[in-house]
Amino acid sequence: FETVSILDVPFIKTTNLAFVHQLETDVAAHHNRFVVTANPEILMYARTHPDYQAVLHQADYVTPDGIGVIQGAKLLGTPLPERITGYDTLLTLLTWGHQTHRRIFLLGAKPAVLAQVQAKLRHDYPGIEIVGAQDGYFQDEAPVVAQIIAAKPDMIFVATGFPKQEFFIAKYRQRYDALWMGVGGSFDVLAG
Ligand code: UDP
Repeated sequence: FETVSILDVPFIKTTNLAFVHQLETDVAAHHNRFVVTANPEILMYARTHPDYQAVLHQADYVTPDGIGVIQGAKLLGTPLPERITGYDTLLTLLTWGHQTHRRIFLLGAKPAVLAQVQAKLRHDYPGIEIVGAQDGYFQDEAPVVAQIIAAKPDMIFVATGFPKQEFFIAKYRQRYDALWMGVGGSFDVLAG
């Protein structure tokens, strides 16, 4: 995708539809991909945290997750077509994952929330195989990474909140080819 730089963060210039189609192609081909859905809070944080800014530059796709980013892009004379949120992208990928029988790994949120999310996904998206789930309050990263790799997921949704989730993905994504996506508080929303 063409990108538009806002506060030195490269946002992809595309629509929800085209973006999800690209992700589906990437997943089907087992490409290694890192998605960040960046809201204004993330942009502000990146300005004062160069290590996080560097991680955003490592992502394959940074999407404008928030009307503030869309407005900013317009003001700068480099408009972006529409908002692409983590939650909407997650739901679309779940629907596709159900239809095409994909394997997913869920990482993050509190144990009770994670259990509710798993129950909901089993009910609403039975075509998906949940090959692993780990709450977001673990101490050692190494066993979690080993668990992810052993589970052979197509898509890994990391819901430990920013900046933690992006640092985690940037650190470990090279160990295993899949779609790695930070989804913030999405598990809490899914759990209702
Ligand atoms: N979370 C987690 N581990 C942590 C801190 C947070 O799994 O060490 C989870 C938390 O339970 C919630 C999610 O991260 O489900 C998002 O948290 P928050 O709303 O603070 O982050 P944001 O949505 O702003 O990225």
